[in-house]
Formats: sequence, C-alpha cells, structure tokens
Amino acid sequence: MKLLEYEGKDVFARYGIPLQKRCGVIKIGDSLDKLDLSGKGPWVVKAQVLAGGRGKAGGVKLAKTAAEARELAGKMLGMKMITHQTQGKSLTVEEVLVDEACDIGREIYISVVLDRKAGAPSIIASAEGGMSIEELAHTHPEKIIRVPVDAEAGLLDYQARQLAFDLNIPKKNFCDFTDFAKSLVKVFVDNDASLVEVNPLVITGDERLIAIDSKIVTDDNALFRHKDQAARPDHEASEIEKEAKAIGINHIGLDGDIGCMVNGAGLAMATLDTVKMAGGDAANFLDVGGGANVDQVTKAFQIILKDPKVKAILVNIFGGIMKCDNIAAGVVEASKKVQIKMPLIVRLEGTRVKEGKEILAKSGLKLEQADSLWEAAQKAVAAAKR
Ligand code: GDP
Ligand code: MG
Repeated sequence: MKLLEYEGKDVFARYGIPLQKRCGVIKIGDSLDKLDLSGKGPWVVKAQVLAGGRGKAGGVKLAKTAAEARELAGKMLGMKMITHQTQGKSLTVEEVLVDEACDIGREIYISVVLDRKAGAPSIIASAEGGMSIEELAHTHPEKIIRVPVDAEAGLLDYQARQLAFDLNIPKKNFCDFTDFAKSLVKVFVDNDASLVEVNPLVITGDERLIAIDSKIVTDDNALFRHKDQAARPDHEASEIEKEAKAIGINHIGLDGDIGCMVNGAGLAMATLDTVKMAGGDAANFLDVGGGANVDQVTKAFQIILKDPKVKAILVNIFGGIMKCDNIAAGVVEASKKVQIKMPLIVRLEGTRVKEGKEILAKSGLKLEQADSLWEAAQKAVAAAKR
C-alpha cells in the first residue's frame, strides 16, 4: 500500500523526524478556511497523489501570501495530473497539503529499500537529491551510496556516521542527520515497508535539517499487524478490486482481455504466464480462494464480467481437497446464474476430474473444455481474438 505524502509525514512525526510546520490538508468539498495560514509564510501547496514527480508536473507550488496559498490550493483540488511516474495515466488531485515553506540550501536524496538479493533493508542515498535523482542514477551511478542494514539491529552508529561523512553533512547537522537516518530505518522495519523515501531531505538556508517530502510503500501482506493502515481507504484500488476484497476474492486488474478465474495464487500466476506465452493478455489476476464453491465462483464471475475489457473467460481450477465434480457443478450453476454470453473455457484437473468433465459436457452450456493449461490458454486467446 502506498501512503500519501502527508500520511507518510504523520508516520515520520511519530519517529521525531523533523518536518515543516503543517497548515492543513484539504479534500474536495472542504472549506479553504480549514487551512491555518496565520504564520508569515511563504507556503508550499502540494497535490496529494500517489506518484512522485509532482514538482515537474505543477503539483508543488510556492505561495508568498496567504491569499495566494488559498487560491493555489483551491485550484489544485480536482486538478488532473500526469507525472513521469504515472505511466501516462492521469490522477485526480483529491487532497492538497499546505505546509510552511522552507528556504532550501541543499537537497539530499535518501531512502530505505528492500534489497531482495541480500534479504535485508538497504539505504540508498545521494548528496545530490531533488527532482533529477533518476537522471543522476543513470549518468553518475558512482554518486549513489548504498548501505546494507541489519533489520534486527537497525542502522548502527558507525554506519550512520559514515553515511553522514559520505553525504558531506555539515558539522552542525551531523547528529540530527545520524538520528534521522536511524529513525528512517526504524520507520521501514516497524511499518513493514518495502520503500521509505525522502527526496529531498533538505538543509535549509538557516542550517536546519528537514524532510520535505515523504514516500512510504508498505507490504499489504503485513496489514494484519497494522490496524491503522488496514482501516485506511486504499487510494489505489479500483472499484472492482475493492468489491472483490470485500467478499474475500483476491483480484488485481490487468490490461488484457482474458478474464481468468483460478484457485490458488501460484496457479493464478502460472495461468497469467501461460496466457502470455499463448499470445494473449490476461484482464486480471483472480484467486477464488480455497473454497471454490458455487457462491465464490458466482461472485468471481460477477467480478470478472464487470470489466468491460473482458472478451473471454478462462476458468482454471485444480480439485485438490474440493473434488472436480463439485467444482464443475459449481461452475455450471454459477454460469447459469450470471448468464455468461462470452466464450467460456474451462480446464479442470485433479480428484474426480472425469466426473467433473462429464458434468460440464452434459450441462448444455456453451463452454469449451481443455485437458491442459496450455490447451486452455490457446483456446482462450483464440476466443478473445474472434
Ligand atoms: P515531488 O516532485 O513529487 O517529489 O515533490 P517534492 O515534495 O519533492 O517537491 C518537489 C520540489 O519542490 C522539491 O525538490 C523542491 O525543490 C521544491 N519544494 C518543495 N517544498 C519546498 C519548500 O518548502 N520550499 C522550497 N523553496 N522549495 C520546495
Ligand atoms: Mg520528492
């Protein structure tokens, strides 16, 4: 799950990470008077969307007067934004953060990421942070510093000090920086994050160290131990995904046109790969869960059919504990209930598969059966192209 900048900063605040003073967050429909612009300014008005690169896309604006800050915030709400991180999609700005602006002396890049090879967190940092960090990583990879971290021990004092030297942190901010770096690693570990990024970490004109941006991505599989995160609306999930989640079906929308219904995440991934190898593209990843009973299968069909891109449905179910004849009866009953008009390809395998196939064959439904996943994928791809 990705957190919005201000949500990430709320987490940072709990760890004592120095931030700018917040003047408020407003949502579409809120009164602009909710913003506390009583200070002397200037202010920074920031679009809260789940993508970086806002600065270059008009999503970060400085205001000298309170009136200007209010006006910019009002204009930004509801604005559509495309940044270099949104893959051409436009995001609607539904919330705007206003902070007291700071005077930037230096911009530093620092993040904690999961180093999958090492199976441990790793700090990535650069003395030259800011909006062109991606370019720098390409043109001057030697300017990117990496520090492997032991998740249990956290960032050790000597590592934090070495990093401060490598980043050329001024003497005055040295201790603040080492505290900050250690806290950042704590944020990463405690929140089961896969990324915690501050770009830029700023040294202000008056020599203070401040995190002026935040990006936190957490692992959804650890949501059970983060009740606050779990309760938060998922800004990224589509309506279909939210609906599927509510009824216990794992569904992730994709760009293709073959709707897939599979039991088990591993088999679902294998199905996507096989569809791709057969020259097609899946419209979704869908795991009906262990049950695969009439009720779940019916709901899964309903979810798949909500996606207007779907041109054919591929059912790939393995009967292990659930027997294939029960699953077949479930598929027949569910497809009658939801009246599927598009090509339906079913591949069953496992316990009592012969009986299951017979039920499908005698059902009178217009469906194609397949004996193997490869055959099923080829049939589905051909059907979607018809
Ligand atoms: P991003 O482009 O989505 O990563 O948004 P950031 O929050 O990182 O802001 C982008 C850029 O706007 C920063 O790199 C800064 O150069 C500038 N910026 C953001 N906040 C302030 C501020 O308080 N004062 C000043 N002077 N510039 C700011
Ligand atoms: Mg940034």
